Amino acid sequence: MGGDANRNMPVSKDYPQLAAGPVGKQIHSIYQSRLRQFTDGGQYREQGLLPKLTDARANGSDWVKLSVYSPPDLSRPTFKDATSHKFKPTKVGESFGPSWSTHWFKVQLTVPKDMCDKEHLEFVWDANNEGMIWTEKGDVVHGLTGGGERTEWILPKAFRDGKEHLFYVEMACNGMFGNAAGGDSIQPPDPNRYFQLHTADIVAVNLEARALYFDFWEIGDASREFPGDSWEAHQAQQTANRIMDTFIAGNGSNKTIAECRKIAREYLGDVDTHKVYDSDKEAIVTGIGYCHIDTCWLWPFAETKRKVARSWSNQCDLIDRYPELRFCCSQAQQYKWLEQYYPSTFDRVKKKVKEGTFQPIGGSWVEHDTNLPSGESLIRQFVYGQRYFESRFGQRCRTFWLPDTFGYSTQLPQICRLAGMTRFLTQKLSWNNINNFPHTTFNWVALDNSQVICHMPPSETYTAEADFGDVKRSVSQHKSLDQDHSSLLVFGKGDGGGGPTWQHLEKLRRCRGISDKTGLLPRLKLGDSADDFFDRLEKKVENGTELVTWYGELYFELHRGTYTTQANNKRNNRKAEILLRDIEYLATLATIKDSFGKKSSYKYPKKDIDDMWENVLLCQFHDCLPGSSIEMCYDDSDEIYAKVFTTGEQLLCDALSELGFDDEPKAGSKLTALNTLPWARSELVKLPAIASLPTYGLAHSNGPGVMEVRPLASPYSANIASIKEVRPNVYELRNAQYVVEVSDGAITSLYDISAEREIIPKGKKAAQIVVFDDKPLYWQAWDVEVYHLASREELQPSKVSISEDGPHRVSLSIETKISEKSWIKTVISLPAVIGNAPSAIEIEAEVEWHETMKFLKVEFPVDITNTEASYETQFGIVRRPTHYNTTWDMAKFEVCCHKWADLSEATYGVSILNDSKYGFAVAGNVMRLSVLRAPKAPDAHADMGRHNVRYAIFPHKGPLDEKTVRKAFEFNNPLRIVGHKSDTATSARQLPILPSQPLENQVGNSSARGCIESILNVNVPSILTSLRILGAPNLILDTVKRGEDDEDVSRGELPAKKGKSVICRVYDAMGGKSKGVLTWGGLKVKSVWKVNALEDEIEELSSQMLDVEGREEGVSGQGVRIELRAFEVATYRLGL
Ligand SMILES: [Zn+2]
Repeated sequence: MGGDANRNMPVSKDYPQLAAGPVGKQIHSIYQSRLRQFTDGGQYREQGLLPKLTDARANGSDWVKLSVYSPPDLSRPTFKDATSHKFKPTKVGESFGPSWSTHWFKVQLTVPKDMCDKEHLEFVWDANNEGMIWTEKGDVVHGLTGGGERTEWILPKAFRDGKEHLFYVEMACNGMFGNAAGGDSIQPPDPNRYFQLHTADIVAVNLEARALYFDFWEIGDASREFPGDSWEAHQAQQTANRIMDTFIAGNGSNKTIAECRKIAREYLGDVDTHKVYDSDKEAIVTGIGYCHIDTCWLWPFAETKRKVARSWSNQCDLIDRYPELRFCCSQAQQYKWLEQYYPSTFDRVKKKVKEGTFQPIGGSWVEHDTNLPSGESLIRQFVYGQRYFESRFGQRCRTFWLPDTFGYSTQLPQICRLAGMTRFLTQKLSWNNINNFPHTTFNWVALDNSQVICHMPPSETYTAEADFGDVKRSVSQHKSLDQDHSSLLVFGKGDGGGGPTWQHLEKLRRCRGISDKTGLLPRLKLGDSADDFFDRLEKKVENGTELVTWYGELYFELHRGTYTTQANNKRNNRKAEILLRDIEYLATLATIKDSFGKKSSYKYPKKDIDDMWENVLLCQFHDCLPGSSIEMCYDDSDEIYAKVFTTGEQLLCDALSELGFDDEPKAGSKLTALNTLPWARSELVKLPAIASLPTYGLAHSNGPGVMEVRPLASPYSANIASIKEVRPNVYELRNAQYVVEVSDGAITSLYDISAEREIIPKGKKAAQIVVFDDKPLYWQAWDVEVYHLASREELQPSKVSISEDGPHRVSLSIETKISEKSWIKTVISLPAVIGNAPSAIEIEAEVEWHETMKFLKVEFPVDITNTEASYETQFGIVRRPTHYNTTWDMAKFEVCCHKWADLSEATYGVSILNDSKYGFAVAGNVMRLSVLRAPKAPDAHADMGRHNVRYAIFPHKGPLDEKTVRKAFEFNNPLRIVGHKSDTATSARQLPILPSQPLENQVGNSSARGCIESILNVNVPSILTSLRILGAPNLILDTVKRGEDDEDVSRGELPAKKGKSVICRVYDAMGGKSKGVLTWGGLKVKSVWKVNALEDEIEELSSQMLDVEGREEGVSGQGVRIELRAFEVATYRLGL
């Protein structure tokens, strides 16, 4: 510009010539700290905003008349029962208890005349515990959580008539997080807590003052949390100070409050309705309401049922008031409880589901643990979950939702895909205490290469309080911004239930307002579902966005004690899974055995099987099976499992009977051993204690099904086992495969005779019992920390003696004192070798355990070198480092295994099998099975008492292969000796005879001869031998069951299908693409379909059917060619 132009510029006339006085730069920290005064609850309370929130208040017996009925014995009566009792007068100030008790209050409420025309009336109830408001007629209206969490219920307009109105409050004497004493919620519950009812008021709310409270809160947060070098932070601070100045100048009058809100709007925009979300600017954070209700944890299952009703009735109410709210909720079991116990609330939920505002999610029965349940259990979580959602709401879930579980099995992506789900939400890995998980949104890839889109909300919580910081962190902690910057914000009170509150929604409206006004806060939207969020992600991937991949397990670097804590519960889980497998297999055979010719009234016991499964799935909840709940939960789960086992034994007995067996063989029974595994076995079996029988028999078959049992009265030298004390306190156990030397109660030498290989390193001791000090940083039942390894202590035996010295099995008993109160007795046994079947060194341990914060393990140092060990997981193998090279490697100092763990070289290896354990570690060449822990919180008595556990050392020539997989199955599925009612069988085949061992040579005495005669010519139904896989020993036929919707099986929840079908689930256990033949022998199969886990058809294979005659010894009939990817889980439906 030139000088002329400058000369012509007008000069402001209003800008004062003279300074009016000094104006200082605001000292940032002082003007920031001042903001606290406005909503202060302390010395400035009466001068600030808080007293303005309430216009009027009424309480006392004139307005709120209270009477109470306290049911006896900590019972939780129904509404009908409770309200039929006499209520006695009570008042505010009284205390109610003890912990877990229930108290029903009759509330007779009269709104004072001068409050009737107030704009907004609430009933406020607070006794620092939980409560539920019921109508006079018995409908749930609203849940309450004391301690200020959720204490108000908006009074219906009809109550403003000056007349008395009646309703009930059902008080539960527990807080949102149970009843821990003191301030530490994971400490065991105090059985004697009492709760004072301190508020039962009618309150008139000043809604404009309340709105200003939230305006000020969010603007204050913006001033604190926006970067100090942003204008947005400075403007927020100025706005907040102006609001305070205005309020002071106007003495906090209603008019002033309105002026303050006007100032707030400069920063927030108009945030008084859900229309704040209507702007068409792109939002990158999707807020979704959620209520995490731990199905049991610091409270028992029975309380959860009420938590569900309390929480979800509130959500229905909140959705009506805040139309932008979308609420999602998982766990079919909780819906089922609501349906059973609170039908009118369930109807309310159902209506909202139909509208799309209440959204079932997750697809599983409960939010289960994924480390410990078997593969089949993981599948059934979805089968039972998805079928429930489909039957009640007409829709399946598309997103697996599991925010709070302690690590994620490597096969989950595959199982999700098989259950109709392509995406997965979690966030627990943000708790890792060693390494920071590097992704927010990524493709998670299973062992078989199946993938799902995984999202971990960057706000790193599933119980967000919907604060400014949560929204801000949705970008600042987002780790996948290179690929996609969108994210989910999962908000709502949780763990103990609750869900979103109106406060959360008020805050979020303001956050959105701030985003639109300033642009600095990530823009949030409500009104979409989690599914909508994932749909958008999926679309992006379809259109070329390449998400980062993560292969294999999502190992959680915390809570490693949960593989071991509450041993009894874990043992019950394993046993129940095995029992269910047998029941479904045998009951299936019993319902398809047309060839028997006889008419039978036997029906597939679908209801009982469903009940058993639902119970087992329930106990797999992520605080139950992992062992992180209070003692009451384990009292409950013990009862649940006892019921499962009682029903299960009966079902097994019924199925066996239908197949022509006596479950309890009597003297004179024709004995057989029942092999429910789909391959041939040769084993020594313990015979029932019947006078005429020897202790052991030899069971052998060429395939699955019924096995011949022979006496072993005078065996060959080849299958003798022997034991002797070779030197003082040094014993030698020997069979045809191994020489085992036990010194001082530990195995100091294990020599493989044919491999000419010593397995125990020189000077080392296997099967050595060790104990560690076990004090994690905080979470006792959950965690074991790496430093515990330094406290290793070897236990020395007090007595070693030969306890069994027969030709077929030898045993050494070892008694070891752990402390004054605890001991362990182990029995190391070596069986005779049967043919060339590989044998194992078996150990049975009985433990009396009364320790405090100790960890009991058993060690197996082996002369094997490998930087990786293998662990059985669901439907496959996880390989993990045996070294501590990096922090990621070291973090896996304690890991989860199922039936076996293995350390192998190319030419030789050792597997450790177990019958009920899940914790393991391999460090260098030391394999360590975790046996028992002794945490004192949240269950003060966790694992105290008697335990029984079996484990085995299974050395093998060559690398890890299917021999280990099969041996571990066999170790967990002992043969069942049953009597046979041969005359009931019409179609039969004769039992095979062992060709290598002529029968007459084995006959040693007359009783044995009698036994042999009894087993000869036993006719068994051929159906027991029919289902198996040929040509691929790595393919495991894991589950055999009837089709869920077969017309003779269906319970009608979903449409029945014509005809009978058999479902066969097969997986590759070793990790190799394989071809095999699934055969059904002589069964008349009309069609074969490959189906998914929900039994939807994928591909017809009927044209692949073929004759299998002569493919393996004793095989005839038909089958179908199958081909599986490495570690694939494949399900086939045989149509009969
Ligand atoms: Zn949880």
